[in-house]
This record gives sequence, structure tokens and C-alpha cells, in this order.
Amino acid sequence: MFWRTLSAITISTVLLTTLAFTGTPSKEEPPDLVSIPPVGALEKEPAKQPPPEENKKITTIPILMYHVIEDYSGPYEQLYTEPAVLRRQIAYLKEQGYTAVTVAEALNHWQKGTPLPAKPVIFTFDDGYRSIYTEAFPILKDYNFRATLYLHTAKINTPGGLTTEMIKEMSGYGLEIGSHSLTHPDLTKISPARLKKEIQLSKKELEKITGKKVTTFCYPAGRHNARVREEVRKAGYLGAVTTRYGAATFQENLYNLSRIRINKSDALQGFINKMNRY
Ligand SMILES: [Zn+2]
Repeated sequence: MFWRTLSAITISTVLLTTLAFTGTPSKEEPPDLVSIPPVGALEKEPAKQPPPEENKKITTIPILMYHVIEDYSGPYEQLYTEPAVLRRQIAYLKEQGYTAVTVAEALNHWQKGTPLPAKPVIFTFDDGYRSIYTEAFPILKDYNFRATLYLHTAKINTPGGLTTEMIKEMSGYGLEIGSHSLTHPDLTKISPARLKKEIQLSKKELEKITGKKVTTFCYPAGRHNARVREEVRKAGYLGAVTTRYGAATFQENLYNLSRIRINKSDALQGFINKMNRY
């Protein structure tokens, strides 16, 4: 019964959400899938436009985390965002003067001083659901927003996943394609040989599709430890994102970047609250 209910949901979602709802945190790295913003966090002060010389180092950047962009109610609905809601969230950020950049651009800014717009925000979409192309991509284009897509290669060209043509088109438009491993395993629980393969081969496969360097990584279900982070660094990635709640800052370990999870229940007001409290 349980599994039948889930039949339409991919293995990756099941893995992710099983962790989210049962929570089996290791001592070292809790998955933090259900973490919430700090209680009583102060309202953010009105944003000031920094003088150009300060723009050299934007210290904090909200990296938003989404999964499926579809109208849906049922088990694990928190992983879904309605397309109309995503549009309102993006319109809100545009009104507030935000510019969407990619995770790679944030890392280049922090590591090499490459300039960024004054109010950057990053949209990340995990797992490579078909709805990223059919629903999110048209909205992103309407607002001239970019994003980072974290794809695990086993899902590419499957029903419900993205096709290589869709990935090429979105990469050509300027969306960043980052790696989310080959098969979405818990990277802390696999052999060293398989760990290398998941991290290195996924990078190669995605680079073959896009013709561009893949420079950022996203840990499946947010699971990582020192050994995993070191393999990601050695494979040539500039950094990696997790599911720990919060805005990313350059003082963090760049292979352990926080993100702000956006749930279905956030709608527009919850989204605004999260943006005001990071
Ligand atoms: Zn995932």
C-alpha cells in the first residue's frame, strides 16, 4: 500500500523524503532536512546598495532549494511548488531588486573575486524532474533569471526526468548544470571506489552533454562527511551545497554550503518570511 502510493515517485525522491520524515542523522552530519529557520530571527534591515568597492565581496547569498514544480497534493507534497507560486516568488524577488546568479558564480566571486550583481539570489532545483523544463524554465526566462540544476545522471532520459536535449537547451540559455551524483546514493555509506565513481563520472557525463565544465556538486539527500567532501574537492569541483538550513556565506566551508529549503506550504508569504530572515 505504502509503496503503491509511491509508485509515481522516483527512487530519489523516496530516498530523500524517507530521510526527511524518519531522520537517521549520523553524529557527524545530520541531514537537516527538516530544519527550520532560527526562531525569533530579527527582520532583515532594508537592503542598502553597497558602494562598488564593497561589491567585491558579497558575504552572504541565499541559495534556494526546490525539487518538483507542479500542482500536487498527497504524500511528500512539501517537495512540490506550484508553478503559479514559483512565478509569484520570482516576481517578488525581481521587484525587490534581486538578480539570480548560479552557485558557480557565487564560488567564483568568493574564490577569485569575479564581480556579482549587488543583490544576488540563487535558485537550485534538485534531481532533474521534467517539470524543471516544462514549468520552471519558462518562468525563469520571463524574468531573465538563471538557476543551477543538480542532476543525477541515472534520471536523465527517463520518464519524468529531463532529456539530454532539454539539458542542452537550458545550459545554452545560461542555467548552470551541476552534479548530484550518478545514482543518488547516500555517499557516506558507499565504498571508496563507488564514491569516486559517483563524484567523478557524473561530472564527466554532464560535461559531455553540455560541453561546459561542471564545477559544483550537490550531496544526495544532503548526506556528506569529511571523506565525501574531500573526494568532491579532489574531483575538481569548486564547492558543494547541502541541505543545512540557512543562507550561504563565504566564511562557510565552500564544500558545505547552506541552502534555504522552499516547501509547498511556504507559498508566497512563507517565502517572503524566509527571504527576510536569512
Ligand atoms: Zn536529490
